[in-house]
Amino acid sequence: MTRRRAARVAALLALALLPDVVASASDRLAVTWHPARPHIGDVAWLHLRGASEAAVVEGSVGNHPLTFFPYAGGHAALVGLDIDGKPGAQPWRLAVLDPSLDPRQLTGKGTVAARQFPAQRLTVPPGMADLDPETERRAVSEGQRLQMLYRTVSPERLWRGPFVRPVAGTEPATGFGARRIINGKARAPHGGADYTAARGTPVVAANAGRVAVVADYFFPGRLVALDHGLGLYTLYFHLDTVSVAEGDRVDRGQPLGTVGATGRATGPHLHFGAQLGSARVDPAALLSLRLAD
Ligand SMILES: [Zn+2]
Repeated sequence: MTRRRAARVAALLALALLPDVVASASDRLAVTWHPARPHIGDVAWLHLRGASEAAVVEGSVGNHPLTFFPYAGGHAALVGLDIDGKPGAQPWRLAVLDPSLDPRQLTGKGTVAARQFPAQRLTVPPGMADLDPETERRAVSEGQRLQMLYRTVSPERLWRGPFVRPVAGTEPATGFGARRIINGKARAPHGGADYTAARGTPVVAANAGRVAVVADYFFPGRLVALDHGLGLYTLYFHLDTVSVAEGDRVDRGQPLGTVGATGRATGPHLHFGAQLGSARVDPAALLSLRLAD
C-alpha cells in the first residue's frame, strides 16, 4: 500500500467515528459547486477551500465516488452528471484529513437541473440494427471492455487547461443525449456528440492524456480512447486511420488519426465522447470547462 493510500484509509477509519458536520459560513472549510446549478449531462466540479494541499480528501456525490486533486491552494473534483441521471437534489459528502485541522466530515446538497433531449430517427442497414447472435455477443463484449476501462481510475491528473475541439472548424457537435429511434425501435441514448467532417480530416486530442485503447469495434468502428487521469476519458469513434498506439502519451492538439465512417455510421463524421467514471457527459460541457490550471 502506498503512503498516500495508507493515509486515506486511516482518514476514512477516523472519519467513520465522527459525527457529520454540515458546512457553515463560520467554517474554515467551504465547498462550492461550479456551475452553481449544473444540468444533466454537465461536467460540474466541486471546489473545497480552506484545506491545505497536504490534506487527504475523499468524497462522493450520490453513490459516485469523487477523485480530488490539488487546485488553487485547495482541492477540486470533477462531477459527471450522466445523460440518464435524475435531476433534483444530489447529496454530497466529503471527508477531509488535514494535518493542521481535526479530521472533518462535510455534507450538503447540490441541485441538478433537468435537460430535454431531442428524439432522433435514423435508418441504418438492417444488419447494423438487428444483430445476429454472434455479432450481438461481439458488440456486448466490446461495450463491456469500454465499461471496464471507464471504471479504471488512473491516479495522476494528466490534463491541464482548456479542452479543445477534436476537429477544426466552428460548427458545434450535435446529437448528445438524443433519444434514438433506429429503424423504428427505441435504442440507448446517443452518448457522445457528432462532428460532421470530410473523410481524412485530422482528429486531435482534446487535452493531454495517455492512449488507453486503440481498437476496431462493431459499433464505434476504429476508435481511440484517451485516459486523462482521475477517471476522465475522451473517445474518438468511426476513424478512418489511427496514428497513435496504446500507451502513447499525447499532448492537447496532437493528431490521433483521421475522420472516417467505420462501424455504424451513416456517413463520415467524428463521434466525440466524454466519460467520467460511469457517467456519460456532454463533450460540449468538457470544452467549456474552465479551471485556472
Ligand atoms: Zn455519434
